Amino acid sequence: MGNQGCVYLVGAGPGDIGLVTAKGYRYLQQAEVVLYDRLVNPLLLEYASPQAEYIYCGKMPKKHILRQEAINDLLVQRGLEGKKVVRLKGGDPSVFGRVGEEAEALEQAGVPYEIVPGITAGIGAAAYAGVPVTHREHSLSFAVITGHDKSPSGEPLIDWHALANGVDTIAFYMGVGNLPHISERLISHGRASDTPVLLIQWGTTGKQRTLQGSLATIVEKAKTAQFKNPAIILAGDVSGIKKGASWFESKPLFSQHVLFGRASEESSTIGQHLRDQGAEVFEFPRMQLQKKLLKATDIPTDKDLLFLSPASVDVFFASLQANKIDIRHIQGEFYGVSSKTIKALASYHCVGKEVTERDSHASSLVILGDSEGIDREKQRYAIGFGDDFIATHTYNRVPQTLETFSRLQEEERIETIIFPNARSVQTVTEGFQACGESPESISAYAHVICFGEKSKQAAVKAGYSIATVLSEPSEEALFEALVQKEFPLAAALS
Ligand code: SAH
Repeated sequence: MGNQGCVYLVGAGPGDIGLVTAKGYRYLQQAEVVLYDRLVNPLLLEYASPQAEYIYCGKMPKKHILRQEAINDLLVQRGLEGKKVVRLKGGDPSVFGRVGEEAEALEQAGVPYEIVPGITAGIGAAAYAGVPVTHREHSLSFAVITGHDKSPSGEPLIDWHALANGVDTIAFYMGVGNLPHISERLISHGRASDTPVLLIQWGTTGKQRTLQGSLATIVEKAKTAQFKNPAIILAGDVSGIKKGASWFESKPLFSQHVLFGRASEESSTIGQHLRDQGAEVFEFPRMQLQKKLLKATDIPTDKDLLFLSPASVDVFFASLQANKIDIRHIQGEFYGVSSKTIKALASYHCVGKEVTERDSHASSLVILGDSEGIDREKQRYAIGFGDDFIATHTYNRVPQTLETFSRLQEEERIETIIFPNARSVQTVTEGFQACGESPESISAYAHVICFGEKSKQAAVKAGYSIATVLSEPSEEALFEALVQKEFPLAAALS
């Protein structure tokens, strides 16, 4: 990376966090500063380094929060400080993304930069609505047009005749406000009034909504449905291809926004499975593991050791190495509380046994785990009072996760809260409180699901109103509960 700064102008894609390029994702992980726009899915921020500084450049419609000049100045300034900066932009940075102005400012200041293209909304949102922008039978050409520009009326000054007669599929960006003007122009310049039109709002996200009509009918329909930006207006025969819900809109958990509580650094496999089924999943709060390497004198050499997690195994072996202690000095047997932990021991070529296999009358144990783990495990395994405990690590909340939460909340994307265990109730609640929310205020609009009795008790005690307790603490039961939930937001308005 070197000491020289570099600014990466990265396309974040239209919304689905999977639609960022591998290169953009890698730069995001390495960035020291991340400047992001309103149209960037805040969930993407969770993949930045825990140390990264976030700067929101959100431009709300008609209300510019951070002016373009100020953004350019910030990019230059951070670049000159030698920082690795990622400027995350919705869709593709070169499509109505003002990347030209930012690149020019960087160039003038002598700050190195790269442009990482992304999937533009006109193509991405259309695909998620089930429409290909070109088609051998319906569309041989495709144009990307601004529906709004800096002319005094805001109406784009474009060659309407050429557009109406020469291009098969037209994607208008930022055009919902000018929809009457756009359809009138196309019709008056010769486009058939029954030309299919598809509006796609918040395409590729859980908030995707579509509206179908024709150049003649779409204005009225959009008014009735109160359709707003960000949306793509897709005009042309391909828009007629959409029949009912698309492949994306038909996913069983489409349009669901799930906050999945967590109490450690690990991402849950359940979270990923819910995403695969169409849900938007926010694993909150994001945590970071802080290792506590042991001093040589603290490393037990002649007692049996019980590891509470794979992380505790890693820290133990890292401590041996740091103190130059050979594993052959360690005399005691190794035990693990879970198969994951025993696997972690195996990765160091050590045999770990299930703690349940241990003779309860055997001599005392040394337990290695995170600072909060001991009480929990004491109860669970009836670990004796003579046992010693060594904290190998703690989990700290990554402060930036609060920003992700606040942005999602502003976008009304906190809808279902899942507590997979009692511990997550505590970490999630602390996160909410740090954002000025309380269990009561959240319960007023979010649906709370608990995996079992223990998490329910913890959640009730904290002040949540519980909507659902799963019939059994499994992924299948969770899936059922989510599918059966009633949602006010219909997938398609058409
Ligand atoms: N650089 C972006 C476009 C920025 S202009 C890109 O390549 O996609 C902002 C406009 O993009 C919005 O007004 C809307 O018309 C469109 N847009 C961005 N994200 C969108 C989405 N997820 N769904 C529909 N339209 C979107």
